[in-house]
Amino acid sequence: MTASVLQLIGVRKRFVDTEVLRGIDLAVDRHEVVALIGSSGSGKSTLLRTVNLLERIDDGQILLGGEDISDPRVDADRVRARVGVVFQHYNLFPHLSVLDNVTLASRRVHRIPRAQAEETGRRLLNDIGLGDKAKEFPDRLSGGQQQRAAIVRAIATNPELLLLDEVTSALDPELVGEVLELVQQLKASGTTIVMATHEMAFARDVADRVVFLDGGVIAEQGPPEQLFEDPREPRTRAFLSRFSGWVS
Ligand code: ADP
Ligand code: MG
Repeated sequence: MTASVLQLIGVRKRFVDTEVLRGIDLAVDRHEVVALIGSSGSGKSTLLRTVNLLERIDDGQILLGGEDISDPRVDADRVRARVGVVFQHYNLFPHLSVLDNVTLASRRVHRIPRAQAEETGRRLLNDIGLGDKAKEFPDRLSGGQQQRAAIVRAIATNPELLLLDEVTSALDPELVGEVLELVQQLKASGTTIVMATHEMAFARDVADRVVFLDGGVIAEQGPPEQLFEDPREPRTRAFLSRFSGWVS
């Protein structure tokens, strides 16, 4: 028995001639928020995609709630129904209203009656101040509103785990705060989150643990205070020095 929601054991992933993940060991506890940081190309998105079975791993194991989801015989749709995901771009279906986006998985995958799914969807949208946008199409919303709706869609089915991949990096700076605030609220309500981010201040404020990926391995990890204030590895220090004011 494991208390971990998610466990990666010796995970390796290769694309043609490059090994992008070179033996990742990572366990995420229930209610924990883990921030993945690292240079562009360090494998953050690939790691998140392997958990959602968008990429199949070459070696190692991935356990979700103790179940080996990296077993090729596992039904990927069934796994995806247990994991919420939000990417950087294009999360909402443009031809569906915001409410239909938010309720789609509940209705189609979890077979919840429309009226009940819509009641939950409206409540979630109201909670984040988007109740009046329920019937709008996504292109009528700002980028920040769209990402917030995408996050609400990802949690509408009560997933065991929420994966966020650079959810603010396509946004205008003035829209970043409202999305980060929503992530902060989800953390407060106990959502288990693994998020790749370039927002170091946010990672420091919200994450329970920060994981620094470099060259396909976890170069260093720890509580944000330690990793940001007193990194042990020279390469962590070098990475953080690119974000001005982080390490002296
Ligand atoms: P990050 O999210 O940290 O920027 P990625 O996981 O997107 O990094 O990418 C890690 C490396 O894997 C990069 O070198 C990228 O070019 C490569 N890569 C990612 N996806 C593919 C793919 N589908 N085919 C080939 N190479 C890929
Ligand atoms: Mg990425």
